[in-house]
Amino acid sequence: NQFNKFNPNTFIQNPNLSFKRKTYSARYYELKKKRENLPIFAHKEEILQKIKENKVIILCGETGCGKTTQVPQFLIDGGYHLTGKQIACTQPRRVAALNVANRVSQEMDVVLGEEVGYTIRFEDKTSSKTIIRYLTDGMLLREAMFDHSLSKYSVIIIDEAHERTLSTDILLGLLKQLINKRQDLKIIIMSATLESEKFKQFFIDPPVLEISGRMFPVEILYSQVPEEDYFESAIRTVMQIHIYEQPGDILLFLTGEEEIEEACKRIKKNASQLQGDLCGKLRVLPLYSALPPDVQQKVFDDPPNHIRIQHNTKREILSHEKTRNLGEKVEQKEEKEKSNEDEEKILYSRKVVIATNIAETSITIDGIVYVVDPGFSKQKVYNPRNRVESLLITPISKASANQRTGRAGRTKPGKCYRIYTKQGYEELQDQNNPEILCSNLSSVVLTLLKLQVEDLVHFDYMDPPPPETLMRALESLNYLGALDSDGKLTSLGNLMSEYPLDPTLSKMVIASSRHNCAREILSLAAMLSVPSPFFCPKEKTQQANDTHFEFHHESGDHITLLNIFHEWKSRNSNTDWAYDSYLNFRSLKNAENIRKQLSDIMIRQNFKITHTSIHHPDYYKNIQKCLVEGFFMQVAHLESSGKYMIIKDKQPVEIHPSSFLQEKPNWVLYNEFILTSKNYIRTCTKIEGEWLIEIASHYYDLSNFPKGSVKRELEKLYLRKAFRNKSFISSNQNQNQNQN
Ligand code: ADP
Ligand code: MG
Repeated sequence: NQFNKFNPNTFIQNPNLSFKRKTYSARYYELKKKRENLPIFAHKEEILQKIKENKVIILCGETGCGKTTQVPQFLIDGGYHLTGKQIACTQPRRVAALNVANRVSQEMDVVLGEEVGYTIRFEDKTSSKTIIRYLTDGMLLREAMFDHSLSKYSVIIIDEAHERTLSTDILLGLLKQLINKRQDLKIIIMSATLESEKFKQFFIDPPVLEISGRMFPVEILYSQVPEEDYFESAIRTVMQIHIYEQPGDILLFLTGEEEIEEACKRIKKNASQLQGDLCGKLRVLPLYSALPPDVQQKVFDDPPNHIRIQHNTKREILSHEKTRNLGEKVEQKEEKEKSNEDEEKILYSRKVVIATNIAETSITIDGIVYVVDPGFSKQKVYNPRNRVESLLITPISKASANQRTGRAGRTKPGKCYRIYTKQGYEELQDQNNPEILCSNLSSVVLTLLKLQVEDLVHFDYMDPPPPETLMRALESLNYLGALDSDGKLTSLGNLMSEYPLDPTLSKMVIASSRHNCAREILSLAAMLSVPSPFFCPKEKTQQANDTHFEFHHESGDHITLLNIFHEWKSRNSNTDWAYDSYLNFRSLKNAENIRKQLSDIMIRQNFKITHTSIHHPDYYKNIQKCLVEGFFMQVAHLESSGKYMIIKDKQPVEIHPSSFLQEKPNWVLYNEFILTSKNYIRTCTKIEGEWLIEIASHYYDLSNFPKGSVKRELEKLYLRKAFRNKSFISSNQNQNQNQN
């Protein structure tokens, strides 16, 4: 084993092999001090010793103890990069990968993207110099598709393993196989909770290192009665803490971008009305994944200074200014202030971070003393019967509630306000469900097949997925043409797996070359991969809607998205134009980047980036037909009752109110099914029934089609097609006869 023979002096004596330099910045020394104070620092030697002796170790430690930022740096000191291989550290979330890489590059005093980098979907900030790579678990899984033995890494750290994301679970299974093949590979499983038992059993008894954090007691306060509106109560609670509590920052957990932005606005408004009178300044900071990195970084800024006031001075200062404006009596007022000088009062200023569950374990913000926990998060739910995966606002688990509480006791004793009752807490589920039990598995199945894992049922899963979910995934991949009837990857499936997209989208992209609309479909696939480009400020909804409507196309939302992208490109990707058109510039910019990457893959696969002239009558039709190539399983039909019904599943749905569709077409194809109080389909486009039987006759095979109006409609379409073919044949025959 080459690592055991490693002499630590080599890399000190051989500076070329190490990133170490002669001089460091002042910031480096400042951060070094902080690093050495982290609880994990005392365990450095122990961790290096254990990893030297074992192929796999499990490392558990309280959130914030320094696992994610420090362990990869310890491994550098242990020389694990000296074989020319890298250290990988996976994160379930893009934000965390990016944020931590940034932090570690500062701690090591290097430029982000050089020695320390990150890889997230559609963004790779690494170079040939990179020795520590933070990446999402999904990206490491993709790398495994192309390099089965993950040969560029000497150590792979699976961080936040307790989150049990789909990609993490699959990676754990793969790594378990890989350690038998690669003698030099080391694996570290890191997790915030101490529930390591399951990982321990899975990896057949590796050593477990537990690092106790420094935790101060946290007082838990419950609601007396169940809250009707957790959002309103949460805002009220934040304001009360700000007014009445001792110094310390606040962390409020909400479920997503919309809620967070709304809460920010409300809290800012409330705070500005009270500031300087009842309380100090309140800096309000959002934290969710769609925010640009520089805005995310702001949550680490110091809170504003406290306001020191003289007793009664508040009123004095106001009148003081008034008199000054009138140019009179200034001196007299200043006199009065002085006389009250001894009665000083401090109004505490603080910051409030409003975050999704990113702040639960992935990102630790120092200085938090108060946590407000409404007890909800957005979680994936999956119904294999209709293959619908949705994000639902769901009660959190006890484990999550306890993690959230722990965030309040990092720097001193804290308080956690639970916006639910004690009994409500008792009724929560113990743990979050592993994602593999509640996801659409099509992408994963494609990945596993590409990884040459052929026996999907007997793959070594920590928790095996429900057989029905697995069957559904195989079935839909078969319909898409990615698998043959024996469940083997087809050449189309092989090509599809190379796109970092959902199989429906990759199928559509590949088909676009043939439909003479690759140029457009690439833009569209990119636009469907970014957050909505529509930006609707609450106070200007009407203007925003009117402006958006100018982009609309009668066929519906897909081509509307395309119009927006093309219009923006024709204006040289202008920021101001996007802003004035109420469009989210970052979404457009990301789409531009994604489009480039997708088109690179297409070109590499020798597909032509075809297009049809916009003046050609088939320009739009080609695009719509190409959509059907990927989304033929996501179609709804207008029933005689005037309601839409999802084909095959007989699920009643409505077109989402945000749609640009002006009429009610007989057939609509949709990108997304959303489950709220109503069942909605979102991002919809009008299609022709004929295209379904032309492009996806295997799916619309009537011999096993559920009875009903859709079947009757399709029967008519098939008849018409047969008739057309027949008359085509007979007219050909006539012609032939005439020629004869
Ligand atoms: P763990 O992985 O054990 O939860 P981390 O290694 O993420 O802990 O964090 C260790 C410390 O580094 C924490 O105190 C955290 O506040 C700090 N830290 C991490 N990222 C940043 C950042 N971007 N800016 C400021 N401090 C940070
Ligand atoms: Mg961490």
